Amino acid sequence: MPAGLPRPLSYSSFTLYEECPQKYKFRYIDRIPEKPKHYFSFGQSVHTALEFFYGVKAPPAPTLDAVLAHYKEHWVSRGYKDEETEAQYFQEGKDLITLFYRKHVPEFHIPLFVEYNFKTTMEGIPVTGKVDRIDRLEDGRLSIVDYKTGKALDAARVAEDTQLAMYQAACESLLGAEVARLSFYHLPSLTEHTLPRRPRERIDGVKKRVVAAADGITKGVFAPAPQETKCRFCDYRSLCPVFRTESLKSFARRVPELAAPPAGARAAGQASASVAAASQDSDAELAATIDKLGSLLDEVERLKAHVLAIFQKKGYARAFGSRYQAVKENRIRWSFPDKKRVLELLRSAGIYEKTLAPSQPKIEAFLGDPAFPPDIRARLSELSEKIETIELKLDELSS
Ligand code: SF4
Repeated sequence: MPAGLPRPLSYSSFTLYEECPQKYKFRYIDRIPEKPKHYFSFGQSVHTALEFFYGVKAPPAPTLDAVLAHYKEHWVSRGYKDEETEAQYFQEGKDLITLFYRKHVPEFHIPLFVEYNFKTTMEGIPVTGKVDRIDRLEDGRLSIVDYKTGKALDAARVAEDTQLAMYQAACESLLGAEVARLSFYHLPSLTEHTLPRRPRERIDGVKKRVVAAADGITKGVFAPAPQETKCRFCDYRSLCPVFRTESLKSFARRVPELAAPPAGARAAGQASASVAAASQDSDAELAATIDKLGSLLDEVERLKAHVLAIFQKKGYARAFGSRYQAVKENRIRWSFPDKKRVLELLRSAGIYEKTLAPSQPKIEAFLGDPAFPPDIRARLSELSEKIETIELKLDELSS
């Protein structure tokens, strides 16, 4: 693995880097998990059912009842906003699998691969991915299928796609057979969008993009790339330097209005010219100070990241300057995505009433409290997600 590349690049990780290098850093370098999303859970549940359908060793196909039972058993319930929404999605998935089954069971065949995990290199860069299905065609060439459960696909998006081109390159180098066709199968509409194999120049274009992303990552280039539509839904917004600085800037813009004397007071001549001039001076000074503070905060974050990167590279946990020492601290927090179920568990264990107001820190404390009933701790732990962060603590050295 090239130094500085935390893991092989996948289609989603390198396109995330292209979209916003700062977001890539939060996700893959700082390893701050994003919030669970119901649409990923839904996609995963349906993919698992189709993997089961095509995953038998020999015909016949499993029965519809067996596929639906597998779907139910492996349902992923993370990220849904409430039980009602989850139930609606569960039913939608069940209907979709039933229709898919009825359409494809008459022509059932055993694919060459189901959920084919690959690891290879592109121009020396390690890449990884998972192909939903690979079929061998009559002429010995390959057909690659990727299932989609999201919104409808348009023809332009399919023709310009990078994911399938990346899969073509990986499969051809690993399986030694030519890929003849590539498909996105949009499951909600049972529509297969098929493309012929991607031409050489398209594959070369994908390789260049993989190399460019790896180059940026290994050189530590993680500049934020804000875009209105992307940032609005970004889980890292509260940590993002763009928005920290932005809020200070917008505060600075608002200050003169807030500090201006009321219009009535000006009309009545109650504010003298000298007082107004002094007030404007102090507003300008305040705005400049706020800008300076914003720049210093950015610089602090940059320096912290730099020190942590050196710690990481050298395996240090502590280092000294002439006046300060820096200590790396690994912190573990817990998140409880399904709060409703946590509260139900506390109520059933008779603990809810004792906590008065069950706050996140109190519930986290239960997890580490050996006096707390072990079975309830184990169930709480199942409902939680561990978030590990690395902090840098700075202490002034005593002289
Ligand atoms: S908020 Fe915007 S700029 Fe910041 S990390 Fe997210 S996508 Fe990037």
